[in-house]
Amino acid sequence: MEIRFDHTTLGQRVLFGAGEAGANIAAALRDLGTSRPLLVGGGHAAGVVDQVSEEFIVAGHIREVVQHVPAERAREAVALAQQVGADLVVAIGGGSATGLAKIVARDTGLPVVAVPTTFSGSEATDIWGMTEDERKTTGTDLRVLPRVVVYDATLTLGLPPDLAVHSGLNALAHAVDSLWASRADPINRAMAGEGMRALVPGLRGLRADPADVRAHEQVLYGTYLSGVALASAGAGMHHKICHVLGGTFNLPHAPTHAVVLPYVAAFNAEADPDSDARIAETLGTPQGAAGLWDLAREVGAPGSLGGIGFTEDDVELAAELATAAIPDSNPAPVSQERITTLLRSALWGDHVC
Ligand code: NAD
Repeated sequence: MEIRFDHTTLGQRVLFGAGEAGANIAAALRDLGTSRPLLVGGGHAAGVVDQVSEEFIVAGHIREVVQHVPAERAREAVALAQQVGADLVVAIGGGSATGLAKIVARDTGLPVVAVPTTFSGSEATDIWGMTEDERKTTGTDLRVLPRVVVYDATLTLGLPPDLAVHSGLNALAHAVDSLWASRADPINRAMAGEGMRALVPGLRGLRADPADVRAHEQVLYGTYLSGVALASAGAGMHHKICHVLGGTFNLPHAPTHAVVLPYVAAFNAEADPDSDARIAETLGTPQGAAGLWDLAREVGAPGSLGGIGFTEDDVELAAELATAAIPDSNPAPVSQERITTLLRSALWGDHVC
């Protein structure tokens, strides 16, 4: 079979080691030559914040971060970075901390060092997101790609078990959605496949024992690979739907991804049997979409969008906004009527089989 593709690998240093965040952040900051880092987040990694503060003169610290990056908060953060003369941003936290740091980087050009404490995967992408007037806008910009990512599985150990699983399913969604995104190619399909192969047993391990640091490592490793695949392939239909649900209806990010993923996989399964087979292979199930639904039940994902704040009254507007945003490259044909049906199934938690 002929192989042809046009692939861009984004440049980023990744330091991965359980219990090594403090030393690895210090090494990264020294190599980047910072003298006035701005800290963002850190509420779930106080020890790491203390270590950085002992070794470096911290120019400022934004402790409170909000999901989906409200524009007002973003503008305040950019102004603070400029006011205190920061020369680098260290984001310590989930996708919300990384997301805020990314807007600072986009608007000031400062480099970012990301230290994830969830499995959001934002640290592996050049995608920024911001919400204004109930509409979430996303874009890509190389300036927002963290220069260094420091992964430490002891930092995700504090996640409440349900949140850990929902966040890990968010990472799985990156791998799955990258399979049919507009720039999908053999390299990011390989990344996505390996990402899924790490995430599925890792998620089962997390559910069996939330304190299992090896399971956290597996999920973090899969998170990184899946984020790289998404950054390279682009966001597909799944992300466009979830951005509307998060940005306009303020649904929680990771649980929303956890609910919606099997419905999108089922929507595309017939039109893209190769991707469905890849998903099925990593799950060890006959069909990918149904396997994703079973996995979500097995590890304890929320059962429906109705259970996390979405209502029948929201369906029409959500379908309209999502339909307009879904890329033409989606394998199955998209219409507002079909997206309405998908959203109703997710609203009620219909069985995907
Ligand atoms: P989050 O960062 O808001 O974290 C979720 C909750 O977990 C918060 O209450 C937080 O305080 C808590 N938390 C974080 N780490 C913890 C820990 N170790 N122990 C205990 N609690 C902890 O949510 P998220 O799901 O990580 O990220 C969601 C955000 O990231 C959204 O805004 C989403 O759009 C964005 N995102 C962006 C990308 C991208 O590529 N740009 C990718 C994924 C997510």
